[in-house]
Amino acid sequence: MKSPKPTLLLHQVFVFLIISLVAILPNPILSKTQLQPLSLKHLEGCRKGQTVKGLQEVKNYLKKFGYTNAVANINDYHHVHEDDNKFDDVLESEIKAYQLNYNLDVNGKLDTSTLEQMMLPRCGVPDIDNNGESSMRWNHYYGGRMGLNFKFFDGKPKWPPSKYNLTYKFTLDGTETEIDVQTLSSVCARAFATWAAVSHFQFREVGEGEHADIFIGFRRGAHGDGHPFDGAGGKIVAHAFHPTDGRLHYDADENWGTDPASDEIDLESVTLHEIGHILGLGHTSDEEAVMFPTIGHGETKRQLASDDINGVQTLYA
Ligand SMILES: [Zn+2]
Ligand SMILES: [Zn+2]
Repeated sequence: MKSPKPTLLLHQVFVFLIISLVAILPNPILSKTQLQPLSLKHLEGCRKGQTVKGLQEVKNYLKKFGYTNAVANINDYHHVHEDDNKFDDVLESEIKAYQLNYNLDVNGKLDTSTLEQMMLPRCGVPDIDNNGESSMRWNHYYGGRMGLNFKFFDGKPKWPPSKYNLTYKFTLDGTETEIDVQTLSSVCARAFATWAAVSHFQFREVGEGEHADIFIGFRRGAHGDGHPFDGAGGKIVAHAFHPTDGRLHYDADENWGTDPASDEIDLESVTLHEIGHILGLGHTSDEEAVMFPTIGHGETKRQLASDDINGVQTLYA
């Protein structure tokens, strides 16, 4: 046997050193990657009748965003979601409702575009509420409730006219992020101004000790409101409550940006979306609209679409 050439040996030593260095050095990018949720890619092409590891993730996802309520409503029974990896009838119906809401081919299968849509960062507010009500496309097909109320939360909660001048403050609770409070303040001021320009509302930041209607802050994991965040790279990036609650929370573990790089979430776009919920708007299936539930990394959506403007103007007409 020939001994390896010296240049090849040197090359091997170099590669070994690089690998060792990467393994030893603390690397914040690597530690974020480790927290990525289970990729759903391998479920592509799954269909009814199959049992495949990972399908439970899809069931949990659909349950979390209200799709179990959709199916209960259609079939007029209260189905308890099977906590397993079996692709059953219920899962197929839920996938169809999801595909309707996201303007996908309604085939009840886990095709590429459906899985890609599910893996996008999104708002934590469910697409379908506990009563099976939705402000998205699904309701048009199965709920038979087409009409002006399709953009709102069930019961159309809204702020009374005496509250058209809303005040907001930041409640950071010691949760540390890369976004400082001055940056957060100017981002929120811009997002509030965008909504103020098309509605009756005016918004003003207030300080410590003053009365506020809206409370904004970063939170991490379970944070006391019954809707825990899911960590770095998790699907949920923020959530807010409908009127007149006023709470708006961002997941502190996400990679936030104000001029977002391809691995960052745009803080202003998400703020604009969550203020929509604060004002009483639900999710829409209009992909141009700010109230569409998902946002890609590096994507910005800082202007309201006609669907958003129609929504707020109809609710407060
Ligand atoms: Zn939302
Ligand atoms: Zn929260």
